[in-house]
Amino acid sequence: MDHLLANLKNRLEIVPDSETSKNLVDRLVALGPQEEPLHLIELDNLIKQHYAWLRHLPRVNPFYAIKSNDEPTIVATSVLLGIGYDCASKSELKRVLAHGVNSEKIIFAQPAKTIEALKFARESKVRTVFDSEFELKKIQQYYPEAELLIRYKFDSKNSRATLGTKFGCNPDTEAPHLLQIAKELGLNVVGWCFNVGSACSDADIFYHAIKKGRQLCDLAAALGFHFKFFDLGGGFAGDIERYAVHINAALDEFFAIDEECTVIAEPGRYYCAATTINVVSIHGKKVLYNAEVPTQIEHIYYYLNDGLSGTFYGVRSDNDPVNPIAWKKINNSQPRYKTTFFGPTCDNGDRFGTGIELPELDISDRLVFPNHGAYTRVYATTFNGFCLPKTVIFIRQSSWKLLEQLSICHNPSEALLDNEHLQQSHAIEELEF
Ligand SMILES: *Cc1c(COP(=O)(O)O)cnc(C)c1O
Repeated sequence: MDHLLANLKNRLEIVPDSETSKNLVDRLVALGPQEEPLHLIELDNLIKQHYAWLRHLPRVNPFYAIKSNDEPTIVATSVLLGIGYDCASKSELKRVLAHGVNSEKIIFAQPAKTIEALKFARESKVRTVFDSEFELKKIQQYYPEAELLIRYKFDSKNSRATLGTKFGCNPDTEAPHLLQIAKELGLNVVGWCFNVGSACSDADIFYHAIKKGRQLCDLAAALGFHFKFFDLGGGFAGDIERYAVHINAALDEFFAIDEECTVIAEPGRYYCAATTINVVSIHGKKVLYNAEVPTQIEHIYYYLNDGLSGTFYGVRSDNDPVNPIAWKKINNSQPRYKTTFFGPTCDNGDRFGTGIELPELDISDRLVFPNHGAYTRVYATTFNGFCLPKTVIFIRQSSWKLLEQLSICHNPSEALLDNEHLQQSHAIEELEF
């Protein structure tokens, strides 16, 4: 753990506890407009999200979905926090194993694995999942002793991205058949998993999904399987409390505390969204006037140094929220105009935030996007020669002290819950200009 801490220290700046997020943004803005978007990372927010998870979901072990943001300091901090990992590829597995993470704390949550990755999973003894007959046969051939979870479909209708069309078996019609096949193949199915979809807003779906899981346990028991490992997947956004009520109620009702079982979840967005503030520069502008009243502004276009080929790839439809803060003194009486953002590339589709209302801005002004840590930099490309974001990493003094403490302690969760500083201040600052 010492090397982790030493590597981290080289990459970040430790700032006083009194330093606000707003101050940090001001510091980056003071550098002047940049070629590349600036990603301001505050590792404190990762720690705070984890602290809230531990407080509200004491029975659920978080396995971070590393695909949502695998920035090295975020990964290193999560290792120090003692979090587990959800990996979907061989290289993700290698990456967390290289950090010394125990295979008990890794789930290879990929229902359609390559043979190569399956062999690697066998060498590293990680648990994995299945949702089809073909996957079961492949597993029997290449990793027959694997501990397996059956992935069933339980899609929320209120999430930013559903996953059920691609993954998951029908729990009522397909699961019994698959479990039967697993039995015949002599495989070791130890539990179930589901995934309600990303940024799921109907928190009570977790209650119903866990209830369905109970039925599957009973069905599996009739075939001679003893289920003891349950995985609630990802999909959490923002405040964990609203999910926790439903999850805790379902666990208490369907999986009594004295029943020996392990419950995990695979939060991605929940952990990393608030770590990152994106500071973007405006480098181009076009004003469209009303055809009849040529002095009347209809719409303003801004050309930014970040876009859909950059870290806004996740903004796939006009319904996806885009919440910029104009980093500039604006007086309340200033008019607002219909606005659209364009990314820097020559692709006509590199456009987002269509029709949002903003006061008029100028070339070299900065737009600031808080909560920009999830599914952002991991998708960025250098298409058309434009830049990947530049990351600038901060941590407050008290959070750094805590990480130092965690690097030498055996029970990081207990140390976190006992940390006085976190007990007193665990709210995440709401960014405003
Ligand atoms: C992407 C993914 C997650 C994480 O989803 P979030 O919405 O970021 O929480 C969890 N589990 C699986 C299997 C995934 O593919």
